[in-house]
This record gives sequence, structure tokens and C-alpha cells, in this order.
Amino acid sequence: ATHTETHGFQTEVKQLLHLMIHSLYSNREIFLRELVSNAADACDKLRYQALDNDALYGSDSELRIEIEHDAEAKTITLRDNGIGMSRDDVVANLGTIARSGTAEFMKNLSGDQQKDSRLIGQFGVGFYSGFIVADEITVRTRRADLGADQGVEWTSRGEGEFSVADIERAERGTEIVLHLKDDAIEFADDHRLRNLVTKYSDHIELPVRMKRVEKDEEGNEQVHWETANSATALWVRSKSEVSDEEYKNFYKHVSHDFSDPLSWSHNKVEGKLEYTSLLFVPGRAPFDLYQRDAARGLKLYVQRVFIMDDAEQFLPLYLRFIKGVLDTNDLSLNVSRELLQQDPQVDKLKSALTKRGLDMLKKLAKDPEQYQTFWNQFGSVLKEGPAEDFANREKIAELLRFSTTETDSATQDQSLAQYVERMKEGQSKIYYLVADSFNAAKSSPHLEIFRKKGIEVLLLTDRIDEWLMSHLTEFDGKSFADVAKGDLDLGDVENEEEKKAQEETAKAKEDLVKRVKEALAENVQEVRITHRLTDSPACVVLPEHEMGYQMRKMMEAAGQ
Ligand code: ADP
Ligand code: MG
Repeated sequence: ATHTETHGFQTEVKQLLHLMIHSLYSNREIFLRELVSNAADACDKLRYQALDNDALYGSDSELRIEIEHDAEAKTITLRDNGIGMSRDDVVANLGTIARSGTAEFMKNLSGDQQKDSRLIGQFGVGFYSGFIVADEITVRTRRADLGADQGVEWTSRGEGEFSVADIERAERGTEIVLHLKDDAIEFADDHRLRNLVTKYSDHIELPVRMKRVEKDEEGNEQVHWETANSATALWVRSKSEVSDEEYKNFYKHVSHDFSDPLSWSHNKVEGKLEYTSLLFVPGRAPFDLYQRDAARGLKLYVQRVFIMDDAEQFLPLYLRFIKGVLDTNDLSLNVSRELLQQDPQVDKLKSALTKRGLDMLKKLAKDPEQYQTFWNQFGSVLKEGPAEDFANREKIAELLRFSTTETDSATQDQSLAQYVERMKEGQSKIYYLVADSFNAAKSSPHLEIFRKKGIEVLLLTDRIDEWLMSHLTEFDGKSFADVAKGDLDLGDVENEEEKKAQEETAKAKEDLVKRVKEALAENVQEVRITHRLTDSPACVVLPEHEMGYQMRKMMEAAGQ
């Protein structure tokens, strides 16, 4: 190496290095993601520039990334045949942080390790993350449009300065050698590296190759390179090219579920928002569906680079059972969980994906048998929808299923649309009854008049039902009415004669009402003659706006 120079790192780099080494210890493996991602970027840049200048490929047009390790030498080496860097590039890229606002950002760091580690995570550590595991890094690189005599070697111990020297380098692209710290030697391991490659780079479409050593018949070691990642992003392929089997396998990969999904929805969207989504409806509920802190959300990629698992910001809670992948160009590669909460693009993506999710369920509902499987597993989660997502409550309402007096079965399989279709002439409301169990609902005295008149009533017995009904005000222009509350107005279903007869009875029995009222005294608000009942002598009715039994129990359970 000739013409060696030593440079000091930019102040911000020194701060970043110091913070990173001290605060990202528990998340050290991300160095591999960062370096592979840079290698993939370098290949993408070459590919892009070669569109105008095919000569950049030279005799080597097969873009790839290679990872090697040497446990004895305590090194990991990453290699790419991407765009590479000139001497000036190296000094600028690996000596400063070019991003605007960096200095400002660094000023916000407090010196409090915990707080700063969160901030540093938002910032993105990039190339410098190599120093989390290495006490010395050597970079050898040559830019694709320069000659073999214009290679550069960069070396640093990550302590304030780095050196650059000119070298001969036949291959274009970049090689990075990490000299591992003693406490990071675990990473110089074939198995560990392969796992990390699968975790972080499986769906980078470039092949990430690793060495495989095998003994031949004579016992000689044979070394050959093999691709360690699957090297295709499934969601990037067009729908027509992906088989059902591949979708199912991919689902298992992202969900860690052993069984098949019920359905999926694969969409590529271009325009104001740019994203590809691949969403799945699982066939069964995970054990922790109702645990607040359970992992949920989508696998997030930005420009095909894996960013995080369980990105929860892109779907509402009531669709938390949906699994899948979101790959978008609308977020920055440096995005973190914390940053997602502030990014206005996230809301737009969320409302787009919510729509996709609801559409996927609507499609699934066309197959009543499949939909029933879904409903039995996830129905009560979907019932959280109208309360959480006011804007979509009509759409959600269409997806709800109930048991009703029509079928008199505990199976929740009747839609509101079906109910409306069966409504009696003159009936203007959708009637429902809330009870603790299906049997209690079915034999409730409140149903007597409805059964007599052949008016259908929804039988609601899930814990969430009363909460649901307090947020569902209308369906198809019809309001909902609790048969156990307030005055019973059957609308035009009753004729004038019946009404008159009822009034007369009420008058004739005024004495009786008075005596019952005295007997019950403080225990009731009011006693009335009713025509709700045909067989039972009496029933208890709640005032119109009173909280129902279930709600009271829920509030009590919540300590209110
Ligand atoms: P970012 O990737 O966000 O730009 P990094 O710290 O990861 O930030 O990398 C800094 C810069 O160094 C990159 O923008 C790129 O110009 C250069 N660089 C890093 N790795 C490579 C590589 N393997 N090949 C070519 N250039 C690279
Ligand atoms: Mg990077």
C-alpha cells in the first residue's frame, strides 16, 4: 500500500461510535443486516448505472454478496461486486455522516445511555455498526469505473481516526474484514452466520453466498460456494407466478404457524403510496390472541430490505390476527419503531392496509364454510372493530355474524344483511337481546312477543357484544333496539286495534299496578302493564339508556 494518510473522524462519527459501542450491546447482530444491506445497495447502484453503461460489469455481471469467516483468525469478511468506492468516496462515506440534521441530532443526545440507545436506534447506525463487534475494520474497495491500480484500503480501530492507502485491486466492489472483539467471536461461526443471513437477508433478491466445505471420497476438503438465502422476494413476484403452495409455505415462514392460512391477499400499489403487501388470514387463533403485549403486526421491509418483525402500526387492533409482509418505498430505511409513531406516511399505509384486510375478509365470506372457520376463531376480535374504527364500521358490520331466533342455534352464522332481508313489513328496527349464555338468551321472556309475531331477534352472548352494540348504531339505515330496554315499540308491525286493546287493558289494571308498585317500593323505578309477554306473568326491563348487565360486569371487572 502506498500514499497512506491518516484522517480524524468527523465529530459526529466519533460521538456515534462511542454511543453505539456502549449502548447497542444487547442488539449486536444488527451489524450483519447493516453491512449486507450496504452491499445490496452497492449492487443496486451498479445495476442502475450499468443501465447506461454496460461496460461497468466488465466480465463479471453476476451481482452477489459473499460472507466468509475464519474462527482462528477471528474474522468475518463480507464481499460484494457492486459499485465500489474511490479514495475520495471512502474518505467522505466512511469518515463522516453525510445525512442532513446529523449534528442537530447529536446535540439531543443526553449522555444517558438508555435514552441515547433509543435515539441511536432511530438514527440508524449503518456502516459504523461493524464496530459493535469488531475492534478493527479493514475495507478494500475499487470503484467500478476506475482501473485496478486505483483500489483503496481503509483501516480503523474505531477510536477517532482512520487511515487510507492506495492498493492494487483486480476486482471491483468492496470487501470488509471485521477483526472481531474477543467477546464477539461467537459470530465467526457458520451456523450463527447462516441463521443471521436467513433472518435478515432471505428476501434480498441478491444471492448471499457462503462457503461449504465437504470431504470427497479421498478425504480431501472440497470448498464450494452456495447461496445461503432464498434470494427472491416472494411478494415482488407477480401473483400469477406464485403458486398456492408457495404462498402457504411463505405464510408458515412469516407466521411460525404450522397450519395453512385460510386466505391471502397480495397487492402491488403504485402512485401516491408505493407499497406491496401480502396479507394472510390464519386458520386458527394463536394462544395469546387476547394478551395485550402479544406480538402482532406485519413484517416490514423498506425497498426489500428487512426492517423489523411485528410492525404493529399498519393494522388496527381488531385486525391483529392478520399476518404478512409490507414492503414500501414510502418509509426511510432508517425507520425504527419510535419513528414509525411519528411518520405521517404510516397513517396512510394503515388505512390502505385496513381496507385490504377488510376486503380480504369480504372475499373470504363468499365461502360460508371457510368464513365460519374464520368467524369461530376470530369473530369476537372483529367485534372490537366498530368501536375502534368508526370510519369503517359499515364494512365491519357486513362481516359480523350472529345467532338469531331465526335459526335458534348457538352457531353465529347469520349476517345483518340476511336479517334485514327477513324483516317483517313495517318493521324498522333490528332487534337484539343480550344474555350470559345462549340458553338464557333463547328462553328469555323478552322474546315472547317477538316469537308470537314472528319477528327475528339477534341473540348476543359474547362478552364483547354489549360493547359492540353500543358502537353499532345503524345497519343499512335501520337502527338497533335492545328488546330488554325501554318502551317496546314494534313500529307498524302492530295494528291500530292491537294498540287500542293494549291501552284499554292498561287502564283496567291501574289498581294492580299500584299495588305491585307499593310492594316492590324502592326496588324498582316503575311498574307497567306490558304486552311484551305472552306466557310469563312479569319481566324486568331496563330503562333505555341504562348500562346493560354485561357492560356493568365489564366495568366492575375493570375496577370502575
Ligand atoms: P447509508 O447506507 O444509510 O448511506 P451507511 O453508514 O450504511 O449509511 O453507509 C455510508 C455510505 O458508505 C453509503 O451511503 C455508501 O456510499 C458507502 N458504502 C458503505 N458500504 C458500501 C459498499 N459495500 N459498497 C459501496 N459503498 C458503500
Ligand atoms: Mg447502510
